[in-house]
Formats: sequence, structure tokens, C-alpha cells
Amino acid sequence: MRVIALMNQKGGVGKTTTTVNLGAALAEYGKRVCLMDLDPQAHLTINYGVDPTPEINSLYNVLVDETPLLDALLGIDKGISLVPSSIDLAAAEIELVSVLGREMLLKKRLEAAIADASGEFDYDFVLLDCPPSLGLLTLNGLAMASEVLIPMQPHFLALQGVAKLLETVHLVSKRMNPQLKVAGIVLTLYDAQAKLSAEVLTELNDFIEASKGKNMPWSGARVFETKIRRNIKLAESPGHGEHIIKYDPASNGAADYRALAREILGISADEGKALAEQTNPA
Ligand code: ADP
Ligand code: MG
Repeated sequence: MRVIALMNQKGGVGKTTTTVNLGAALAEYGKRVCLMDLDPQAHLTINYGVDPTPEINSLYNVLVDETPLLDALLGIDKGISLVPSSIDLAAAEIELVSVLGREMLLKKRLEAAIADASGEFDYDFVLLDCPPSLGLLTLNGLAMASEVLIPMQPHFLALQGVAKLLETVHLVSKRMNPQLKVAGIVLTLYDAQAKLSAEVLTELNDFIEASKGKNMPWSGARVFETKIRRNIKLAESPGHGEHIIKYDPASNGAADYRALAREILGISADEGKALAEQTNPA
């Protein structure tokens, strides 16, 4: 099971969009996917048409009331489950302030769910949609993740933000989770025509290249070949409670998230096509 934290302390860079649609693309390739909404803003939850009211079993209950993770799991689509957020998740940070080992709570709940005799928590991928901050919720994500994936929007000074983020991931991982790896950086809201996109990409590649062999926290991190282009369908689909593969399977957005899923799986376009046909026979 690969547990991937989608992280960037900046908002509006495509964390939630990538969680939803990368998850959907992985599911199309036959992978079993669990999406977890760690953000009190609950955009991922709302994206799937679930109301983040305190009435539901959410990550808040999992963290604060010791509700088992399995009790908060919602099946939302073929091969896709969701652990929702709720508006009271914002209070969890304060309510847990005196709890010892509060950064490790979610990791413990995950381990308990995996060990559960029902065998119900059986996923190939767990994707964590982190809030745009480095608070307790993100720390819980980093503590339980095996990999970090950083969506980055190419704009002025974006690289400085990502460099800072990578250093933080390194510090956190040294203390809480030595297995944690940076899976890579994916450029989002990409406009191939814009000079700035090309400049930021060159800068980013140079930055990663210069770190090779230097034992920097991000040495060996990859910049994904796949760029997520700006595509209006990706912005529209949440309003319909759907991911891009359902909302518009022929869109650039669907093509880009399928390509990213294939890069993460390490498979070719032909292998992907075969897997998708096997998963969803006509
Ligand atoms: P974050 O979770 O990092 O705050 P979001 O995924 O919510 O960012 O994206 C911010 C906004 O940009 C949302 O309105 C989303 O629909 C839109 N968006 C994200 N990626 C794209 C894209 N590739 N093309 C067009 N709109 C996008
Ligand atoms: Mg978000």
C-alpha cells in the first residue's frame, strides 16, 4: 500500500484537484484507492457531494473520539472510498493540544484499520489531501505517509516556496518518519504557451539536478514528465459532484491525470489502456 500525502503550504495550487482526479485515474487502472480529506475546508469531501456536517463520521471523529477509520469510510465510486472531513476538523488542532503523541494519531488509526480482522481496509493507494499549512493535520499526514507529492503552480517565486517545503518535509521526516520519500513535484495549472511556465520548469529541473548526490532532502526527487494543463473541465467537475474521468473522459484534464497515474505506476500508455479495459469491460 502506497500512502501519498499531497502537500503544499500554498493554497490554490491543485492539491485537491490532484487528489480527486489522480485517485480516479488510478481507479480506472484497476487500483483500489482511499482518499482522505485532511483539510477542514473539506473541498475534497464537497467535491464528491458529501456534506461536511458534524453529523457524519469524519476525520474529526477518527482523531478526537477514537472512532475507527473503518467507521468513517464511505464508498463513493467503483474502487474509490473517501474518509470525509467536516467543519469541526478545524477545532481538532486545539482540542488535541494536550494529547501526547498527537502527531501520530492518524497513523495509529490507519494501522488499526489495516490490522482489522474484516480485511476491509484493503487499498493499493491512500491519497491524503492536506490543508495549506504545516499544522497538526498536515503533520499527521506526514507521519503516516510513505511518499510526498507536491503539486506546484508555475509562477514567480514558486520555487522558493517548494524549496522551503522540501526542507520542512526533511526535518519532519527525520524526527517522525524516516521512511518518508519525496515522490516528486508535479506542475499544475500549466500553460505551455506561457514563457513563465518554461522558465519555472527550467529553474526547477536545475534545482533538482544540482541536489543530486549531495544528500539533500530532495536529492532524487523527480519532476514528473506529466504537466497538468489548465483545463476548464477540471474546474467544472466538482460542481457536478464528479471526477474528471466521469465528467469528461475525453478532456485534456482526464488525459493529464491518466498520464500522471501511469508515471506513478511506472506503466506505458498501452499497458494503461489494457488495464483500463480489463477494469471496465465494455
Ligand atoms: P488546493 O487544494 O491546492 O487549494 P485546488 O485543487 O482546490 O487547490 O485548486 C484551486 C482552484 O483551481 C479550484 O477552483 C480548481 O477547480 C482549479 N483548478 C485546479 N487545477 C486546475 C486545472 N488544471 N485547470 C483548471 N482549473 C484548475
Ligand atoms: Mg485543497
